[in-house]
Amino acid sequence: MSPYKVYILQYAHRKLTSSEVFLGDTNQNPMEMAYFVWALRNDEHTVVVDMGFTAATAAARKRKMLWEIGAQLDKVEIDAAQVQHVIVTHMHYDHVGQYALFPRATYYLRDEEMAFWTGRHATAAPFRRSLEPEDVVALVRANYAGRVRFTKLHDEIVPGVTVHRVGGHTPGMQIVEVKTASGTAVLASDASHYYRNMDEGIPFIALNNIPEMLDGYDTIRRLASSPRLILPGHDPEVLKRYPQLHEGVCVME
Ligand SMILES: [Zn+2]
Repeated sequence: MSPYKVYILQYAHRKLTSSEVFLGDTNQNPMEMAYFVWALRNDEHTVVVDMGFTAATAAARKRKMLWEIGAQLDKVEIDAAQVQHVIVTHMHYDHVGQYALFPRATYYLRDEEMAFWTGRHATAAPFRRSLEPEDVVALVRANYAGRVRFTKLHDEIVPGVTVHRVGGHTPGMQIVEVKTASGTAVLASDASHYYRNMDEGIPFIALNNIPEMLDGYDTIRRLASSPRLILPGHDPEVLKRYPQLHEGVCVME
């Protein structure tokens, strides 16, 4: 198995304050949130991790769309229409909206995630605001079309790419372990939005289970060969830590 390169593809951003990010923070310090999708590629396989939101959702939620996601994938020579494997770390609007870009893909997600967002608590205000109902419907349709694979607790998607359920942020939150030339990397996605969540043990404000969130930070650290090989889900700092290939596109290898 050849090592994977991890492409970090930004597509949007938003200004907000620290009180909208860190549980218990009342300081309202100005911050930025970056929105990413990721692509993993070696000589044999291409795996996309999460899909991002649509331009319509960006407008409705006042997020600034910086680049089209298909165009970001094009920059690293990935044709979204041909992608066969899409890992869904969780079903929040900023991770699943662009399902239409990937007509050939199988979506890999957790049973708990689908069950939760089609179940009794999904419409409660603290949860509801992080979802677009049409995205949930699209994944239900994909399931009936045979295009969803429900992942196991620790599940190899293709050789060298394994998902692990951590929960915490959402019931079926899963992180991605990937073998690179530098060692084992971990795409934490929203198991740690920012480096600070994980480094200081302060959860993001939107969450399902605090103990699972804290245990998730340990799991991320345990799996990764070094701190340099951990990618948080929304931290703009990521863009400074890895070489830039194109505008909004960095690579970890
Ligand atoms: Zn997110």
